[in-house]
Amino acid sequence: MTQTLWLKNPLAVFTANTSDARGGILIRGTTIIELVPLGGQPVQPVDQVFDATKLVLLPGLVNTHHHLYQTLTRAVPAALNKRLFPWLKTLYPIWAGLQPDMLHSATQLGLAELLLSGCTTVADHHYLFPDALTEAIDIQVQAAASIGSRVVFTRGSMSLGEQDGGLPPQSTVQSDDQILRDCDRVIGRFHQAGDGAMVQIALAPCSPFSVTSELMRQTAALAKQHQVMLHTHLAETFDENEFCLQMFGLRPLDYLESVDWLHDKTWLAHGIHFNDEEIRRMGAARIGVSHCPSSNMVLASGIARTKEMEAAGVKVGLGVDGSASNDGSNLIQEVRQALLIGRLRYQADEVSHLDALRWATKGSAQVLNRNDIGELAVGKQADLALFSLDEARFSGAHDPLAALVLCGAHRAEHVMVAGQWRVTDHRLVDQDLDAIQREHRHQAIQLVNRQV
Ligand SMILES: [Zn+2]
Repeated sequence: MTQTLWLKNPLAVFTANTSDARGGILIRGTTIIELVPLGGQPVQPVDQVFDATKLVLLPGLVNTHHHLYQTLTRAVPAALNKRLFPWLKTLYPIWAGLQPDMLHSATQLGLAELLLSGCTTVADHHYLFPDALTEAIDIQVQAAASIGSRVVFTRGSMSLGEQDGGLPPQSTVQSDDQILRDCDRVIGRFHQAGDGAMVQIALAPCSPFSVTSELMRQTAALAKQHQVMLHTHLAETFDENEFCLQMFGLRPLDYLESVDWLHDKTWLAHGIHFNDEEIRRMGAARIGVSHCPSSNMVLASGIARTKEMEAAGVKVGLGVDGSASNDGSNLIQEVRQALLIGRLRYQADEVSHLDALRWATKGSAQVLNRNDIGELAVGKQADLALFSLDEARFSGAHDPLAALVLCGAHRAEHVMVAGQWRVTDHRLVDQDLDAIQREHRHQAIQLVNRQV
């Protein structure tokens, strides 16, 4: 018989909504069945009690943009201190050598790293499908099942190689036909629709400078047919705006609209260089933006206009991006980065730690069009993270929620996904992190040494 668990009396709780859960939450199976207000007792019978009095309770964090394979190329000497395009040109020849074992290992390591930071749902953008890796999404789905994270794998694509004026090497691009057939296949094989989905598929041409307009259009049509989401990089740098104007005679958002992508089933990584009129149109279309503060700072790309976008109706969430441009995969640290970079654009009373926490939870869930995760409420999935404040960095802190963000929390104590503990006492419950790391280091060396 299914047990009911009461996470009782947390030190502090962020529900990402207006409900009072200061007395804790009740979990049954995969779902939250009751919120207990401050000083209250559960209405429903409880089988097990978990004492949370020393822990801060958050909804499981949701990462809306990543490239897990890039965990293999963190801090590569030749790519340091470069702008986006030369940075990509340096790394593409290395990435072109990616092999199945390497992707498996990178997916496990990155998901584990995120999980340990309190992140329970991860959207990954994989767009490298060289001949050795035509079943990349299959490999990632298998790796994710071993870690237990909820995932949205986006079947990326690149069809414009160097020979056709694009950036990526020819060996990493596929034909439109190959790409669309595989998109269709992985949706049919892996995509789960509806509440509680552990694996979803979205379609994600890499960027305007790596695919043809025709592929952008056909991808939008295929996504519509299967009712899956669309994702791509957009308006990350000024260089990209210039490239779009030169290549298509359009600014990035106009281009996006011209290929049938300006709607609420699309989310964009970065979304930095939009003007007021474009933000208004994005809001009207209810498009989503994955704000990636660390990556934007590392590559000196700029500062996303998060508050204006939200005010206009754009859905805003957080992404760690990378990991070659972050170079970490830690979502609770990204919450702090979002607050700090926000303070460079806005006044101190215009962006708060609660904004940053909201972006990482409910905001990110909305970006992915997920109504079942991202907040603590009755009927939502039991995805959550508990943080202790017993490290030196928190000593002397008074507001526990603000302390998580301002003092720099970096690891969750316990993490639950779909009602199952996946991290307890800072450790993965059923995986050997040392073994995952050993294998990952080995694969990272192999990849960098393969470069021709
Ligand atoms: Zn990216």
